[in-house]
Formats: sequence, C-alpha cells, structure tokens
Amino acid sequence: KETIIRIENLKKHFQVNRGLLKEKKILKAVDGITFEIEKGETFGVVGESGCGKSTLGRTITRLYDATEGKIYFDGNEITKLKGKQLHPYKKKMQIIFQDPYSSLNPSMNVREILSEPLQIHTYLSGRDLELKIKESLEIVGLDATSVDKFPHEFSGGQRQRLGIARAISVEPDFILCDEPISALDVSIQAQIINKLEMIQEESGISYLFIAHDLSMVKHISHRIGVMYLGKMVEMADSASLYKEPLHPYTKGLLQSVPRIGTDSNFESILFGDLPNPVDLPSGCRFRTRCKYAKKICSEVEPTMIQIAPKRQVACHLYDK
Ligand code: SF4
Ligand code: MG
Repeated sequence: KETIIRIENLKKHFQVNRGLLKEKKILKAVDGITFEIEKGETFGVVGESGCGKSTLGRTITRLYDATEGKIYFDGNEITKLKGKQLHPYKKKMQIIFQDPYSSLNPSMNVREILSEPLQIHTYLSGRDLELKIKESLEIVGLDATSVDKFPHEFSGGQRQRLGIARAISVEPDFILCDEPISALDVSIQAQIINKLEMIQEESGISYLFIAHDLSMVKHISHRIGVMYLGKMVEMADSASLYKEPLHPYTKGLLQSVPRIGTDSNFESILFGDLPNPVDLPSGCRFRTRCKYAKKICSEVEPTMIQIAPKRQVACHLYDK
C-alpha cells in the first residue's frame, strides 16, 4: 500500500507564560509522534480535549510550523516548505473543522463560500466554476439551488455538508477532519460519516479523523491512534483496538463509552483529570491516573513497542 502522509518524530511546542509571575513554560502539545496514513485509509485520532490532537492535525497540514521532526506528503518532504512551494500541497490537503457554524463566513452566500478555494487553487471561472460548485454540492447531497443561500438558512448538518463540499471541490488527496461531527445530533452524525465514506470509496481520498470519543471514530476509521498529552500511547487497526485494547488509557476510554445495560466501571481505571500539560509527570505521562503504575513508570518514559504488524503500544506492562 502506498503512503499519503508520513510523520516522523513530529513535535509542536509552544512557549506559554503561566501564573502571576508570567513564568515561561513550554507546552509540548505534540511531542514526538510517528505514523503514516495510507492512500484511501482513514486514520482516527482519539484523546481528551487538551491532548494535542488538533495541534497534531494543524501541524501536519502546515497551519502550524513544526518544532521538530518531519512531514512527508506522497513521498515529498513538506516540513519546511513555504509560499509557492507549499501552495500545491495546500490544495491537496484540505480541512473540515469542528464547528460548521463558525467556519463558514455568515455574510457570504454558498457560491462565494465555495468559490474561494477554487479561485485560490484552480483556474476555473465563469460557467466552469459554477458547474464545479454545483457538482460539489450534489456530491454532499445538497440541492444545486443552494448556491444563492446563506449559511444561516441551513441546519447544522447541512452546514457541515457545505464544509465538506468546500473541502472536496478542489479534489484533495487528503482531508483533516477535526471533530467534524462532535457538534451535531447523533442522527446527523451517521449521515455525515456515511457521506465521508462514500466520497472515500469513489475518490480514494485519505482522512485523518479527530474525535474526543472512541465511539465517534469506530465506524469510519481503519486504524486508530490514541493520544495522551502530546504522545501516541497506542495505535491499532480498529477491530483489534475495540476488541482487545492494550494501553490502560485506551481501556479507560473504552469503558467510559456508555453502554446500555452495563455499569460503567470507568472510575476504576481512569480516575482524575489531565495533569497540567506544561508540568508533565516524569516517566510515563499517564502514571498519575494509572492503576497499574509501578516504580519504573515514574522513572522511564515508555517507548512504542511493536506488538503485531499493525499494533503498537507505549507502556511498561508490555516491555519484553
Ligand atoms: Fe500505566 Fe506504567 Fe503503562 Fe504508564 S507505563 S500506562 S503508568 S503501567
Ligand atoms: Mg480540538
């Protein structure tokens, strides 16, 4: 299988000023992540808010400059490209944002909203531009007569369809989906997922699909990475991850998914809040919330261990 995105030891650190004394601290939002996404694959990334998953997406798509590490798109390194060199990759990597309400300019009609990326990235104009806009709307299941409407005239689900139409109009190879369904009703969530899957089947596009909840990535993801405080703690194909989670954090996340008729014992594994991300625990970052923590966990940071061809985990319980 060919790879569309590969990141190697990717880091994004921010300098922040904390407290009354405005003490300078480093926030390690993304702190050394390595994985690849295949062509036609959906890679899900899951973690609590504040774990760095949006920063990861924004660094990969070059909205943020990486602090360290490398990003490859279709075999070409793009980590430090700027301006004209970066421009063609900006077309190939589109983004769908979490909040369809705020990611669409309320004073622009649909024609103007969809024209924007097309005018930046293609030479289409006049009738061809109009046709492309209508074609994109049809793919996401919106009526071609929508072109004269404004965002407030659509429902939340329809607005997210507009966001998808805008992203696919320039025919990208990859879309970063940053919590695209979190703000939608459950019934609408399934429609959006189905639409994204249909587009993938027809175009072979790849997705990085971000969510804060494992139930939201289950259906769409081929593989899933679980993120905790800037690190991947486990990566696996979807089926294995749900059937046999390895990392204590993944187990905690899975048990926090409400299941009808069962008593969640979420608390027994995943207790407490995220530690302050500018003051990370020594050793394993998860140790302050892990009931399996032992001496080595506070002394040595666990590294990714390959368990099976598509299974990796970073936890001392699996040290050889
Ligand atoms: Fe828990 Fe230790 Fe594994 Fe970290 S390395 S998840 S503290 S057992
Ligand atoms: Mg986010």
